Amino acid sequence: MSRNEELFTRAAKSIPGGVNSPVRAFRSVGGTPRFISKARDAHIWDADGKQYIDYLGSWGPAIVGHAHPEVVKAVQDAAVNGLSFGAPTEGETLLAEAIIKRLPSIEQVRLVSSGTEATMSAIRLARGATGRTKIIKFEGCYHGHADSLLVKAGSGLLTFGNPTSAGVPPEFVKHTIVLDFNDLDAVSNAFKEYGDDIACIIVEPIAGNMNLIKPAPGFLQGLRELCTQYGALLIFDEVMTGFRAGPQGVQGLSGVTPDLTTLAKVIGGGMPVGAFGGRADVMQHIAPLGAVYQAGTLSGNPVSVAAGLTTLDILGRPGFYEHLAAQTKKLVDGLSERAKAAGVTFCADSVGGMFGLYFRDSIPTSFAEVSDSNTEAFKVFFHAMLDQGVHLAPSAFEAGFVSAKHDDAIIAQTLDAAEKAFAAI
Ligand code: PMP
Repeated sequence: MSRNEELFTRAAKSIPGGVNSPVRAFRSVGGTPRFISKARDAHIWDADGKQYIDYLGSWGPAIVGHAHPEVVKAVQDAAVNGLSFGAPTEGETLLAEAIIKRLPSIEQVRLVSSGTEATMSAIRLARGATGRTKIIKFEGCYHGHADSLLVKAGSGLLTFGNPTSAGVPPEFVKHTIVLDFNDLDAVSNAFKEYGDDIACIIVEPIAGNMNLIKPAPGFLQGLRELCTQYGALLIFDEVMTGFRAGPQGVQGLSGVTPDLTTLAKVIGGGMPVGAFGGRADVMQHIAPLGAVYQAGTLSGNPVSVAAGLTTLDILGRPGFYEHLAAQTKKLVDGLSERAKAAGVTFCADSVGGMFGLYFRDSIPTSFAEVSDSNTEAFKVFFHAMLDQGVHLAPSAFEAGFVSAKHDDAIIAQTLDAAEKAFAAI
């Protein structure tokens, strides 16, 4: 038995499924998850001492590479001065200012400890600020695990959702309207029907939780116009895309300005942080100024804030995003070429430091299209890559992440492995 197997068996006795977040369990690809013992730059090592090129990047945060010496030093320096105070610190203001400076749509921002908290709070704020009840989300977009967001489309054209999790009463999701990503007509119809009671639209402006799906031309602009017309708030959930798709996230790439933005992952540099922010007049509704309650014992944690600040500083250095995007593009172009040579139906796409791999013949634009992928081929590919020391996301429906430390040699090594993996399909 390998050490990974041993640890997984043991973990499953004390932790449900052996993991603290379900996708880590390898359920959709089968096999034993790798228990990670250390990480450095673009590499991770498992409990058996095997080294992998890492395309998980902790699901997004590890954008400057794992254990970046400057980030580690910032964490060490902060830790020496105390781990948490429950009282304000200068660092929190510095991180808020750093976010505001980089994302012009954000005039004020509050720090929390996860993406789930950020989206949950932003939606409460949108409801509190507008005095309205209903929200619109899109099928296949993930915004964390708050009750009213664990919902899929029901039947019918204008659908109120059905819970996707046991333990969520239907009453808790009855104000969530679930529509198809990239279907602007459906959004327009929803506003025609319920416009007076729609508090907000929440959207991953580039979806990274149903593999990678980009907005169709005009989609985000259309959402902006409808929200403005009907007095609803537009929330960009940039937990994944923030400081990852580009220096100003998708709002910078698209030129569409949301009312509120949620962030996490990169802004914590690998430590637990989330944030929600936006228009100052909307943010004024948050306690203690306003009537919308929101709080957190560890919010703005000094160690996390230090990691986030240092990470944002590194991201601001000349050429960071050009290099990141170029490396990611080399990876997806190389994979597409290798697949073609092997006669495997496959395509790939990227934006900034994130990518999508699709075992289908065209780049998907909707949840329905991406669902129509060859998951069996993905499984074979995933395991062939893993065997050769390349760790991809263990699901055909997740985006992948590149760091600044994925240099040409690492990409070349990945593509050599891919050549063999495609041949195995
Ligand atoms: N929103 C998006 C777009 C996400 O990708 C995620 C996590 N993958 C979340 C929200 C939830 O964040 P967390 O896991 O930190 O709660």
